[in-house]
Amino acid sequence: MITFKDVTKTYPDGTSALKSINLNVKDGELLTLIGPSGCGKTTTMKMINRLIEPTEGEVLIHNKNIQEYNIHELRWNIGYVLQEIALFPHMTIEENISIVPEMKKWKKKDLSVRIDELMDMVGLDSVKHRKRKPSELSGGQQQRVGVLRALAADPDIILMDEPFSALDPISREQLQKDILSLHKEIKKTIVFVTHDIDEALAMGDRVCIMREGTIVQVDKPQNLILNP
Ligand code: ADP
Ligand code: ADP
Repeated sequence: MITFKDVTKTYPDGTSALKSINLNVKDGELLTLIGPSGCGKTTTMKMINRLIEPTEGEVLIHNKNIQEYNIHELRWNIGYVLQEIALFPHMTIEENISIVPEMKKWKKKDLSVRIDELMDMVGLDSVKHRKRKPSELSGGQQQRVGVLRALAADPDIILMDEPFSALDPISREQLQKDILSLHKEIKKTIVFVTHDIDEALAMGDRVCIMREGTIVQVDKPQNLILNP
């Protein structure tokens, strides 16, 4: 589904962020990406939707180099959930979720049904919440809307970069459960970055462990060799 072939990234200031990594994310799996701060997780994620270009090597989606895709099509087909809650504050929840579907020219009626469905999936009351502004929701609820926005236009791939980092432990635990049940339901390919090993093990079909720009292990949680 997503393939990294000998991908190296050296930033213009000489920082070596990725050192010839090879990775294959399978269709429909939830892969967690774990490693200490600075090991290259975000660089890896941003390469998948071409926010960052490799210095060497190539990234393929469905066996096609991502350079060959139309950039808009590529990005519409990849939902990205960011670390910081990044909803537009002046727009309602409904408007925030509708951004990509509207660019894709979805019919209003289909979109409205879709929003109901999505909000229901993560336990948000559509009638009560869809017309609200982000500031009228709790942090946990806003982060859920961020997830829904990424899912709204039915992308093939969902990237989540530490989506829970701003949350309290209880909201965090709830959102972990929500994402796992979402993943069961929609069976999309998800790459999920975290620096919390328990979260990586609990959520990943497979876990990719990174260190200093390299991949040290990629395996099912039960097969990983973990240092005490
Ligand atoms: P992680 O997400 O695992 O914390 P990153 O991918 O953000 O790691 O960063 C990997 C390395 O690249 C770090 O050393 C970081 O400081 C460096 N880095 C990230 N972005 C840039 C940039 N735009 N310019 C220079 N160095 C960068
Ligand atoms: P969570 O369990 O996700 O942290 P909270 O306890 O913060 O939720 O919020 C509980 C309820 O209060 C939610 O239904 C939310 O919509 C509502 N709420 C939270 N903050 C605001 C606000 N600033 N304005 C209006 N309603 C709010």
